[in-house]
Amino acid sequence: MTAAQFAVFGHPIGHSLSPQIHQAFAQQCEIELTYRAIDAAPADFVSIVQRFFGEGGAGANVTLPHKAAAFALADEASAAATRVGTANVLTRRPDGGLAAHNTDGAGMVRDITERHGADLRGHGALLVGAGGAARGVAWNLLDAGVASLTIVNRSPARADALAAAIGEPARAHSRHWEDLGSLGSYDLIVNATSAGVLGSDLRLPGSLVGTHALCYDLSYGAAAGAFLAWAAATGAQHAYDGLGMLLETAADAFELWHGQRPDTEPVYARLRRQFR
Ligand code: NDP
Repeated sequence: MTAAQFAVFGHPIGHSLSPQIHQAFAQQCEIELTYRAIDAAPADFVSIVQRFFGEGGAGANVTLPHKAAAFALADEASAAATRVGTANVLTRRPDGGLAAHNTDGAGMVRDITERHGADLRGHGALLVGAGGAARGVAWNLLDAGVASLTIVNRSPARADALAAAIGEPARAHSRHWEDLGSLGSYDLIVNATSAGVLGSDLRLPGSLVGTHALCYDLSYGAAAGAFLAWAAATGAQHAYDGLGMLLETAADAFELWHGQRPDTEPVYARLRRQFR
């Protein structure tokens, strides 16, 4: 019997750690699989994914810029994917249809609460950014019990749209970027912008950082460097990058596909040595 086939689709995709992570999980759980990184330009995404599943692909991770297209392509979607409107996991059903799921938000919250041991309940959170990743984590922060969620985005309409989609004005609201200096301080600041990845400036006032604040960047490696340095300089008590989130979201997909939960810790420790 040939090994089950899995893949991650993105554009660009050369940097993806997913093949390495899924092979490590598979080895740990003694499962045989193949896992490839497949570059798909936006215009070709649907046909490339359909060919992959048509030729026997069992499951796929989906990353930038295809998460909305993956959701639209699926025949059914989990509640987590439906509320966000995007998917980072596609799974082939026995009848050949595709099921969409989104594990981003659950993965980030698990990284913060379980790996880093922070209790989010009752705290004031600031979500910086309102793109795909911000949408992916916003609801989960509320599920994790934050008292309030303030969303700011360089382009205000996207922050307004995300707050409106959440539809809990008493807890989740948008504010304007130019008002960042007068918003006061937060216990949790999540950087969900792509500024670090793009190498562009993210200008945030130090007044946002509360005395015991935890600052979290969804990106990792060099891309998270500027935000984490800003957090340290402003006196944040904790500052973490999104490497753990990546591992946790991958573990969720792995469990969905193989029915076994891998131990993320040894793989995290190994990758952490690469991304100090
Ligand atoms: P999108 O392109 O959908 O959104 C980008 C966001 O960044 C927008 O809100 C955009 O604002 C904002 N932005 C970009 N540059 C700046 C800047 N210089 N100043 C202020 N805001 C800026 O990207 P995603 O949401 O999909 O991804 C965001 C980040 O999250 C990426 O770094 C990605 O690698 C990371 N990520 C990490 C994951 C993990 O597992 N660790 C999973 C998913 C994502 P505007 O709307 O004004 O353009």
